[in-house]
Amino acid sequence: MTTDLPADDSAAAAELEALAGTIAHHNRLYHTDDAPEISDADYDALVRRNAALEQAFPHLVRADSPSRHIGAAPAAHLAKVAHARPMTSLDNAFSDAEVEEFVARVRRFLRLPDDEAVALTAEPKIDGLSCSLRYENRELVQALTRGDGTTGEDVTANVRMIADIPATLPADAPDVFEVRGEVYMAKADFAALNARLADEAAGTGKEARQFANPRNAAAGSLRQKDPAVTAGRPLRFLAHGLGEASAIPGDTQAALVAAIRSWGFPVAQDFTRAASLDDALATYRAIEAARADLPFDIDGVVYKVDRLDWQERLGFVARAPRWAIAHKFPAERAQTTLNAIDIQVGRTGKLTPVAKLEPVTVGGVVVRNATLHNADEIERLGVRPGDRVVLQRAGDVIPQIVENLTRDTPRDAWHFPTHCPECGSEAVREVGEVDWRCSGGLVCPAQAVERLRHFASRHALDIEGLGITNIENFYADGLIARPADIFRLTTETLLARERWADVSARNLIAAIDAKRAPPLDRFLFALGIRHVGEVTARDLARRWTSWAAFRAMIDAGTAGRDAMLQAIGESDDKLLARTAKELAAIVDTKQVGPEVALALIDFFAEERNDAAVADLLTEIAPADVVHETRSSEVSGKTVVFTGTLETMSRDEAKAQAESLGARVAGSVSAKTDLVIAGPGAGSKAKKAADLGIRVIDEAGWQAIVAASA
Ligand code: ZN
Repeated sequence: MTTDLPADDSAAAAELEALAGTIAHHNRLYHTDDAPEISDADYDALVRRNAALEQAFPHLVRADSPSRHIGAAPAAHLAKVAHARPMTSLDNAFSDAEVEEFVARVRRFLRLPDDEAVALTAEPKIDGLSCSLRYENRELVQALTRGDGTTGEDVTANVRMIADIPATLPADAPDVFEVRGEVYMAKADFAALNARLADEAAGTGKEARQFANPRNAAAGSLRQKDPAVTAGRPLRFLAHGLGEASAIPGDTQAALVAAIRSWGFPVAQDFTRAASLDDALATYRAIEAARADLPFDIDGVVYKVDRLDWQERLGFVARAPRWAIAHKFPAERAQTTLNAIDIQVGRTGKLTPVAKLEPVTVGGVVVRNATLHNADEIERLGVRPGDRVVLQRAGDVIPQIVENLTRDTPRDAWHFPTHCPECGSEAVREVGEVDWRCSGGLVCPAQAVERLRHFASRHALDIEGLGITNIENFYADGLIARPADIFRLTTETLLARERWADVSARNLIAAIDAKRAPPLDRFLFALGIRHVGEVTARDLARRWTSWAAFRAMIDAGTAGRDAMLQAIGESDDKLLARTAKELAAIVDTKQVGPEVALALIDFFAEERNDAAVADLLTEIAPADVVHETRSSEVSGKTVVFTGTLETMSRDEAKAQAESLGARVAGSVSAKTDLVIAGPGAGSKAKKAADLGIRVIDEAGWQAIVAASA
């Protein structure tokens, strides 16, 4: 992510919009699905970027800004209840300087004299699920998750199953009091729970549900439909504050926490009152040093202004209190040896390098693999098998290699493979792209299921009854590996399988046989060539009209390609760009640019693909494009469609006119012969009238079409 600010309002607005979407997406994964995709550090970076932009462009803050919302929408099965007082989250500090600035802000806001000390409380920031417990007349009446901060999920029944949470408060507690804190799972309990789930699943033959980390385990266990499930999970609770209260016990945060503790709630053992900033930072370091030995995961230290009257005056900004901040720990790191670099081939052919590591423990988790993202990242790190590397695990998700400690040690460089490790096809790259892809779309086992699904899909060959389930099953059993195999299926093969009846088998084979002469455009689209979508396939088919002509063009392209790609003294990207441009001239189709031309030629240049297509063509024969033109009163004339057409799309109208031998223009000029104007035609119709051009409505057009039939 860039640290520069956008140049102008529109760039800033666009980035803020993108950030709002991205952050909401990750919030949903984290809070609603308990399945994060990115590390906490990466998430924090997004939030900080958003905050920086909002500070620089305050007039562009969005109504749906992530800074105004916390967490995500509640899960569907739990009742939604509004919080009596919003449950805000905390702003983060990532350095001592930022904590210092926090205290300075507090001073400025309260206009404190220089000699007035600001006492803070400090406590570990536990990685759990925030909960608000409401007691009325000293009875637990309601428990809500944070939800989006304004509305939470009702988890009262589930919370009653947690032993750490008292059902009643002693007589000295106020009439109304909301205790806020974190529901969490201890590290040892988390490991035991995953082991138990694995054991239970082993007996059933089902895949075991495994939680990624203690936080997700706690969230998943608390937000159960059935409280009995929650009861069987080792959940704990740690109190750290209050929500609505009819009376507050004490004048300080420290006194408040002491009272809550006296009522039977667990509070953090390391809770400290720090008389000064230096004391607070010393507490931070002590907690950080003890982190690995704590029974639960923490990701920082929370400081709060100790005086409650000051907290009251400081109040809240949109999303967080002004009187508290979370001082986050840096990501955890470890050193290990990189043993090998493997290439993983994605479902769509992307080649991703993965570092195979000497197993190492980082933040309590054993790490064996780390993604290296792409060839550029490998070059940036200069890593080769045998190097010592620094591994970082920020939060819980994907460990990253951040440094190569032995990059200066002489060792053979590692080269990105020129061929796909799954199928041996050539690896290709696009101009300006960092990713390499397997070009063997039709033959690569890693891509087979996705390609077969695409081949049979509705806008491609549209084979009825050959959906993803059948494709996956047939592929798994070795019946189909490539498109040609589909046409070699027989009723007998299908009937030999479980659950296939005579009728369904014959129907599928008939549906397959019905597609042995697909229109050329559908055939080209079905091959799944990168960048050749439906529209491009149609353009290519119209331009080349027959498979034979198309194929001759491809042969010219592939013959030229290798010569074009051999030049000395030109950068890779420049050479690739020039080659793509030359290929576009050979493909010679309107709307088909260099990028598409290169992808098209790359596809056929890979001999394995070419062989698979040849094999397919022994089974099916694409139908030529017939430009049928009928003579009509508009043959050879130039027509313009304008306004809203009610019985057909603009594309259909255009195709219709072309089939009548007319030329369709986009604007009205002296060369226009006829204007077909729908409702709302506006200026074009007026111009036509000014030029004395004949204007008809849609019904008039239909009459011309009908007359020519
Ligand atoms: Zn491959």
